[in-house]
This record gives sequence, structure tokens and C-alpha cells, in this order.
Amino acid sequence: MARAYLSCGSNLGDRAGYLRQAVAGLEQAAGVRVLRRSSLYETEAWGPVEQPDYLNGALLIETELPPHSLLDLCQELEQRAGRKRLVRWGSRTLDIDILLYDDCRADDARLQLPHPRLSERLFVLYPLAELANGDPLPLIGDVASLLANCKDAGAVRYYAGADEW
Ligand code: AMP
Repeated sequence: MARAYLSCGSNLGDRAGYLRQAVAGLEQAAGVRVLRRSSLYETEAWGPVEQPDYLNGALLIETELPPHSLLDLCQELEQRAGRKRLVRWGSRTLDIDILLYDDCRADDARLQLPHPRLSERLFVLYPLAELANGDPLPLIGDVASLLANCKDAGAVRYYAGADEW
């Protein structure tokens, strides 16, 4: 069994509903168990495209799926949420990224692990720090020091508790 940390976000329509749909989809998938959920945070959209605020959260899962099969599942759940890849960095009903998968490194056309922009984004680090709870994580170490060094200045507000999704 591997342990993976996922980052989930939505900034269109019923944002919390799409995030709940992501958790439900993961729980129903064969070979996946959701161990912990972070709180939900509301965050300013990042990048060059003007768009509504996001809701973001992170999950710790246990899985029998190898990394690329887990990516397939995440992308299937994005599709089920009606996500269309219209504009790079643009609005989305559901985005699921694999942040970490045990101490596995990947760098191919489909999958990079650890996620390459993990330490650049407060909306990833806040919920991840909550799940890490002060313990160092594989390959990236102490999330609190990544947070302290993060240059992202976007606003991140607490939105709802872990039991809300
Ligand atoms: P995004 O638009 O942010 O959802 O990016 C999706 C693209 O990133 C897909 O083409 C994936 O194949 C690729 N990708 C690379 N590494 C990862 C990762 N660790 N988790 C999720 N998607 C990834």
C-alpha cells in the first residue's frame, strides 16, 4: 500500500459540491481509501487568467494503484465533474493533482512527482501543512519551512472544516 497526498480545487459552480464529488469518487474507486481530509480554504486564483476564487483542500489517501493509474483515476474524476480543458491555467470545476506518492519520483510526459509547483503555491501548502501536522513528509521534508519560504502572496482564507467535504 502506498500513501499519496492529493490537492483538490474548484472555482466554478457548486465548488464544495465538486470537491465532495472528488472525495466520494476516490472512496468508491477500487484500491483507494481516503485516510484524512484537510479543511477547505478559499484562495485567489493564481496565474495569468482572470477568474473566480478557488476552494482548495488536500487529501491523504492509501492506495494499491501505481502512480500512473492513480493519475488516470484523478483525470477520470475531473472529466466526470464536467471539466473541459479550454484554457491552460483557466477556471475548472475540479482539479486533482498528485502532490506526493510515497517517496516516488517521476518525470515523464504525463506525471511529475513530487508535483513541480507544490512549494510555489500557498493554496497547496496550507492544506498540506494541516495534514502533515508537523511531521516531515517524504522528499519535501518540513512543510512549515516550505510555507515560510513561499513567495506566493495570494490571499488564503479558512473556509470550512474537514468534515464539510
Ligand atoms: P492541470 O491543468 O494543472 O490539471 O495539469 C494537468 C496536466 O499535468 C496533465 O496533463 C498531467 O498529465 C500533468 N501532470 C504532471 N504531473 C502531475 C501530477 N503530479 N499530478 C497531476 N497532474 C500532473
